[in-house]
Amino acid sequence: MNRSPARRLVAGLAALGILTGVAGAALAATPDPTLPPAWPMDTALAYRWATNAVPPTAMRTAVNKAASDANASRRSRAPSYSYSSSGANGVSYGTSNPCGVNGLACFQRDPVNRYWHLWFRENGHRYDWGTLTWCEMSGSPNGCYQAETITLDEFGHVAGLDHHVNLANDSDYADAVVQTYSHARPLVGWNASAFGRCDVATLQQVYDAPSWTTLYSTCLDIPTTLAFAASTTQVPLSGSVTFTATLHANGTGRLAGNPMAGRIVVLQARSGTTWVDLLTMPAGSAAGTYVATYWPRLAQDYRAVFRKPASEGVRTSSSGAITVSITCSPTRCPLVASEAAQP
Ligand SMILES: [Zn+2]
Repeated sequence: MNRSPARRLVAGLAALGILTGVAGAALAATPDPTLPPAWPMDTALAYRWATNAVPPTAMRTAVNKAASDANASRRSRAPSYSYSSSGANGVSYGTSNPCGVNGLACFQRDPVNRYWHLWFRENGHRYDWGTLTWCEMSGSPNGCYQAETITLDEFGHVAGLDHHVNLANDSDYADAVVQTYSHARPLVGWNASAFGRCDVATLQQVYDAPSWTTLYSTCLDIPTTLAFAASTTQVPLSGSVTFTATLHANGTGRLAGNPMAGRIVVLQARSGTTWVDLLTMPAGSAAGTYVATYWPRLAQDYRAVFRKPASEGVRTSSSGAITVSITCSPTRCPLVASEAAQP
């Protein structure tokens, strides 16, 4: 893999030494590795500008934008970020930092003691490869680094994401903002303003989704289960049966056993050797349930099916089948007559 000289390490102090075993990369993009421990769910992390290391206006604006970006795109109960003059943690800018020789920015995190800190190198810093230019401070020439995007990378680390492990050809680079090598303008991802789907995937596994209707990242491949019940299996003539399907995600971490609401679950009937869609089951009162009333005309097998939507990283599932038969008295049963063709 060719590393452009313009791509430079964003040092994660706690991340160094972890990125091994990239050989034999998977065929599909994978969720970012984690950087434990996690914060409690829904933790609000307020930051202030560090005394004697206050970032210039353009950098402060970039950091605040990145906070909004992180909050809007995390799709999980991961930490949220906001500026507060009384924030307990600092964001520093300037020559005094622990970012390592190639770092543009770096972080420290200690969720147990509720501590974290970000540092940004000064605009014009001289590396052995050239000069650091922050896009927001320079009119955005090619070769500059977008501070907003770099901050989002750092916020991802603070939340507990380690650097994304890219495919061998880097084709999934845009799937993550939390990257070992940050891209300068105009390389792909240089100005990302939202977490990538594989950043979100790990945030969801570690911090859970904010609601049962939240879609799971397409960087995931979560098995689902569909339970199925009928109010009765013996329906009188012209009577109805109420079917209840219950959809769950069997993901890892916090995504184990989550009810899945707001999805499309279809009631099917067996017809010969195939299954035919009857109707889309409306949402029930309990999260993840789908309830439909149906008037069977003949004894038949029924089941529910959930089909993987393109917008979500979950698998198709179908329930077991339930046979519903029609009960009738001999004098009031429907007449079943076959018309034979005249030979
Ligand atoms: Zn990073």
